[in-house]
Amino acid sequence: MEWGMPSVLLVEDEPAIADTLVYALETECFEVIHVLTGAAALATVAARNFDFAILDIGLPDMTGLDVCRRLRESSPIPVLFLTARDGELDRILGLELGGDDYVTKPFSPREIVARVRAILRRATPQAHPQAVDQSPAAGVILHHDPSAMRIHCHGESLDLTAHEYKLLLVLLEKPGRVFTRDQLLEYAWQDPGAVTDRTVDAHVKSIRAKLRGVRVGAEDLIQTRRGLGYLLSL
Ligand code: CA
Repeated sequence: MEWGMPSVLLVEDEPAIADTLVYALETECFEVIHVLTGAAALATVAARNFDFAILDIGLPDMTGLDVCRRLRESSPIPVLFLTARDGELDRILGLELGGDDYVTKPFSPREIVARVRAILRRATPQAHPQAVDQSPAAGVILHHDPSAMRIHCHGESLDLTAHEYKLLLVLLEKPGRVFTRDQLLEYAWQDPGAVTDRTVDAHVKSIRAKLRGVRVGAEDLIQTRRGLGYLLSL
């Protein structure tokens, strides 16, 4: 996305809704590929990369949640769910599956565009000089590959969930800076109201475990500043 228009995969089977969204997104300089079914979505992502996915929950052949689950097997692509149902269960399921936000129909296309922008901003806070280097040397402790949305530790790709990825990315953008839990919630979660401070702690714990898997016996890169928050120490 650093090199051109952000690309959005829109999976929506209702033509009227899809048309207004395609128009709104293209007007705002997004490249949009629209497909009608989950199967078409999976075939499309197998052929090319996208910066973002907007998934209708109620698709004719599978649910948007299924599509998200399949997408997440290969990349932490940001996902916004659309749904006609205003169910708490859907919401929780969607967010657990790695969806970044959730919008109930009817919605305004401008609202969707604003949310996509906000999520993309969080997912890739800044274009990074290291972005050019796709194959980091093992000596580099942490390396961000924004196009693949992956973070490498000593050259090894970390298997992070979407929220773990975003949380570690926030810390990585400003090594040495202490972030409060509230700040981390705001940067790494689209809807901080839905989660608690404990959620941040749980994710940090999980990221630490994954880092320890690569850096056996080494000091934790994520340090706790008691009563304040967390910082990344490189
Ligand atoms: Ca539908």
